[in-house]
Amino acid sequence: MREVGDKARVTDTPPVIEISDLHKSFGSLEVLKGVSMAAPRGHVISLIGSSGSGKSTLLRCCNLLEDSQQGEIRFEGEPIRWKGTGPARQPADRAQVLRIRTNLAMVFQQFNLWAHMTILQNVMEAPVTVLGRDRAEVEAAARGYLDKVGIGDKCDAWPAQLSGGQQQRAAIARALCMEPRALLFDEPTSALDPELEQEVVKVIKALAEEGRTMLLVTHDMRLAHDVSDHVLFLHQGRIEEEGPPEAVFDTPQTARLQQFLSASR
Ligand code: ADP
Ligand code: MG
Repeated sequence: MREVGDKARVTDTPPVIEISDLHKSFGSLEVLKGVSMAAPRGHVISLIGSSGSGKSTLLRCCNLLEDSQQGEIRFEGEPIRWKGTGPARQPADRAQVLRIRTNLAMVFQQFNLWAHMTILQNVMEAPVTVLGRDRAEVEAAARGYLDKVGIGDKCDAWPAQLSGGQQQRAAIARALCMEPRALLFDEPTSALDPELEQEVVKVIKALAEEGRTMLLVTHDMRLAHDVSDHVLFLHQGRIEEEGPPEAVFDTPQTARLQQFLSASR
């Protein structure tokens, strides 16, 4: 379990991500109905809830992969600037969008590695082409991150030659190599067999312990319990209940969360 005491000092810097009263619809389907949350620096925030409750959409709104119609999104205190309002609103500043997106690196359920690139090339690609960093420096960093996730010997392999657990660890190394301010995980272990799942869980726990800021969507209640500073339970596009993991998992207050947790065991 993580120490709460050493987190106190982060409150004097703005949260890495902060959203307030966010509304998001797909056509006439309102998927997020006024969601507010914050990820202070160095904290792990987990999002739990049934399939279809809006978890992925919320994550994608945070890094502006999805648009939204109402509410504020801040990155390190800086509000997203919009032009237009309601369904017509769009981010006003492409450079701001790119900066935020590259600083909130996403890890997907299906890994999404590029099949035609080696593992090392996968990890190096965005820092070199998107961020314009020095190739030799990026290569050294990429090898370091691949070592860190335990697949330093797979640099020259192709994604298809790796197990699911190894591919997901490569995807995590790829996210780390962007040197982002936060990592966004969308069900990173859901596509894996139980024994491979643990390899990835171990990496996520190590990242939490080194104080990375993370937003974690997961169906793995044990993982959410062990790594989170704060847990959000999303139900039909609203945060139905939230709190520290001990409160959410040990003494759930709402019938909906109680029901969800008993169905997830
Ligand atoms: P979760 O990740 O919690 O399973 P999602 O955020 O993926 O939930 O989806 C929330 C709701 O939004 C679901 O009803 C889903 O069908 C709908 N939805 C998600 N993406 C789209 C889309 N691109 N177009 C239309 N509806 C969508
Ligand atoms: Mg989802």
